Amino acid sequence: MTSTQRTGKLFVMVGPAGAGKNSLMKDMIARIPGLRQLPTATTRPMRDTEQQGREHVFVTHEEFLRLIDQDALLEHQVVHGRLYGILRQTLEDALDAGELLIADIEIFGAQIVQRSYPDNVCMIFVQPPSIGDLVQRMEARGDSLVERTKRLLRVPMELAYANECDYAILNDDLQKTADTLFNVITAEAQGKRAIGMERIRYDYTYLAQVVPFYHHEVLLPLSGDALGLTFDSSASPAETALTALEQRLGVRASQADLIGGGVDGSFLAPYRFEYESEGAHETLRYIYLYRMEERAEFEGFQWMPARWEVPNGEPA
Ligand code: 5GP
Repeated sequence: MTSTQRTGKLFVMVGPAGAGKNSLMKDMIARIPGLRQLPTATTRPMRDTEQQGREHVFVTHEEFLRLIDQDALLEHQVVHGRLYGILRQTLEDALDAGELLIADIEIFGAQIVQRSYPDNVCMIFVQPPSIGDLVQRMEARGDSLVERTKRLLRVPMELAYANECDYAILNDDLQKTADTLFNVITAEAQGKRAIGMERIRYDYTYLAQVVPFYHHEVLLPLSGDALGLTFDSSASPAETALTALEQRLGVRASQADLIGGGVDGSFLAPYRFEYESEGAHETLRYIYLYRMEERAEFEGFQWMPARWEVPNGEPA
């Protein structure tokens, strides 16, 4: 079947983790007759609330590799350490049958499906009111420090993607946003364009910091400026902290020498993560500890009693 004969539509919800995509998707499925979730293949275990083939087609790692070999997947990505992929036949059959589908797909996969079925895919970007809002939602749902700090690094890249989408809607109030989304989906399902582009401008800084310590004391700059550097969120915060250590103190160290708050692959989570906002400006601080070999003096710095505990329970 050619794309002109295909009458179905896939609504792809994109946006950073914690923007509320999943709740909105569930709400739309409950409210719009005929709308169902596109089940994508995944190797993650099924949750109690889920059904095989409804949210996902749950497969083993070997089965997933076989799907790749058979070219059954339109795309696939690793998301939070698990494999996910769009089953080409499942999607095409539903589009050919004129079905309305909705899915929450991460950005790289979303771009592929958008390019592959331009006439049948509607991209809806869900924007958080601020990055702080994402931080709060991730904390509230109990995401670990490693998960939160790793996902937050993707946020600028994800926010920039709003421009590539058909719609961008602000999720500042779940009920209001759900109503906007309802209008978008019902209009698009009838081949009409809905209005509703709400562009947000975000103003933020990512800062990687390191706090050297020796026994019970920490080395702090006298000026009050943190020992750290701003970084582009596509860079590694731990590497940036090490660069700051070398530039300001002349201390060369490697990532293994830093004390963080857990690892995920090559990502070292910060020992502490702090979020601050001043007016509209948001600052995300990734703070690492570094154990000094001796209590050396450095110009412009002073040793102060530590306020934090180090992971082995011994005060810094
Ligand atoms: P969950 O495990 O919560 O159902 O999905 C986790 C995340 O995986 C979703 O938020 C979405 O971003 C991503 N995801 C789900 N299915 C697919 C898929 O088929 N392809 C890609 N690239 N990402 C997916």
